[in-house]
Amino acid sequence: MLRASDVEDFRAALRGQLFFPGQDGYDEARRIWNGAFDRRPALIARCAGAADVIRAVDFARAHDLLVAVRGGGHSLSGQSVCDGGLMIDLSRMRGIRVDVAARRARAEPGVLLGELDRETLAFGLATPAGTVSHTGIAGLTLGGGFGRIARKYGLTCDNLVAADVVTADGRLVHATEDENPDLLWGLKGGGGNFGIVTSFEYRLHRVDPIMYGGPILYPFAAASRVLKFFADFALDAPDEMNADAALTTAPNGERVLAIETCYCGPLAEAERHIEPLRRVAKPLQDLAAPTPYVELQASLDEAYHHGIKAYERSGFLRRIEPTLADEVIEHLSESDLSTTQVLFVHHGGAIARVGPDATAFWHRDARHSMLIQGHWDDPAQGEAVMEWARSTWAALESRTNGFYVNTIAEDDPQRRVRGTYGGNYPRLVALKNAYDPTNLFRRNANIEPTV
Ligand SMILES: Cc1cc2nc3c(=O)[nH]c(=O)nc-3n(C[C@H](O)[C@H](O)[C@H](O)COP(=O)(O)OP(=O)(O)OC[C@H]3O[C@@H](n4cnc5c(N)ncnc54)[C@H](O)[C@@H]3O)c2cc1C
Repeated sequence: MLRASDVEDFRAALRGQLFFPGQDGYDEARRIWNGAFDRRPALIARCAGAADVIRAVDFARAHDLLVAVRGGGHSLSGQSVCDGGLMIDLSRMRGIRVDVAARRARAEPGVLLGELDRETLAFGLATPAGTVSHTGIAGLTLGGGFGRIARKYGLTCDNLVAADVVTADGRLVHATEDENPDLLWGLKGGGGNFGIVTSFEYRLHRVDPIMYGGPILYPFAAASRVLKFFADFALDAPDEMNADAALTTAPNGERVLAIETCYCGPLAEAERHIEPLRRVAKPLQDLAAPTPYVELQASLDEAYHHGIKAYERSGFLRRIEPTLADEVIEHLSESDLSTTQVLFVHHGGAIARVGPDATAFWHRDARHSMLIQGHWDDPAQGEAVMEWARSTWAALESRTNGFYVNTIAEDDPQRRVRGTYGGNYPRLVALKNAYDPTNLFRRNANIEPTV
């Protein structure tokens, strides 16, 4: 039990807000992107700055409270909200500063991808981020960060040059290559295990704000042939090309294979690189064309709208073997659920040229993530969709090796979490022992301390 006077002192000390159950704003503040989670924290501290974050961490530690940390709120497994405990809400910390001359951008942890893109693209600059513009930079960066220009410029975390971090003991620590370099290393793929980041500083790259991209849709009947062709196409693609394949359902209810393209090199060369995808089978629809990068970045926003309910399992692949392509198609063909899909997200390129131990992100040799996804709006569908995703995953898991920590599911076993940090795990445990020995920050792909 918390004493009312302690809670009142905490509230008075915050520059931001403190929400309790029943209070105006509480229900809105506890809501996250994934509508499948309806959790009720005892308190929600909506922080206005690093000082509030320190107060919140100190309060949680002093009262032994479970902590959930919310940046953009897109945790697929609902880890940014908790039942009971303290939710530390960073969503109102939204400042961004671009240093054009130094090609750097500093962003606070409530910033969304589309906001960062808009600020930097105004100067013809960008850092790689994800593919849905309302995702938060915070969780995405700390877990890795795959997106349309990552094969050219690396993961989002590879472009993280500095961070301010509130540690479990309530200190504000700066991490760079020179200052606390071990902490910076751990933030690049180790998730939210080591503290709460209150400022991210990114390297920016000069990009053309118009890129060549968009989806190409094929009939499901051609999916086997196109997906097998795509497997080689994706392996041989230049770094400038990102192509994600999705066995999904079109708005008219028809199952299709969609290949979502983005070429970030010179526009004049784009068609030559995309052309093989146009020849392999007659597309149902071909929307790949010169398009502003910010539009491409927002093109999937509605499909993945706020409040949709989601369940996902995923794993890394070295390649899409022909037998795997056929198995995936079979699993989808046997299901009459229109809200299930399987994605093959493109990796490799610059991502794979970073050594596995150069950052906390180990699986640099992956060429795709295979995502088994189920979405539903109608609560009555939830069980069936999750059951399909779980059984499909059980059948296909052995084809994968490791997984992207930002796609962790509630029922992912701890041995899998440990495995995906690979040979970096002992160093990550040492870092966890140093920065968070009591595991205050455990609602993540958790690295368990050993002290
Ligand atoms: C619709 C959708 C699209 C996506 N697309 C992509 C994609 O294209 N590429 C990709 O790489 N990933 C993608 N993801 C996965 C995404 O990277 C993760 O969901 C990520 O956690 C989102 O970050 P967030 O800040 O919005 O999440 P939150 O739910 O706010 O946070 C998730 C977790 O990150 C940690 N965390 C958050 N903020 C901080 C902080 N400031 N300090 C320390 N720890 C913190 C906490 O452990 C928290 O539980 C997508 C997810 C969704 C839902």
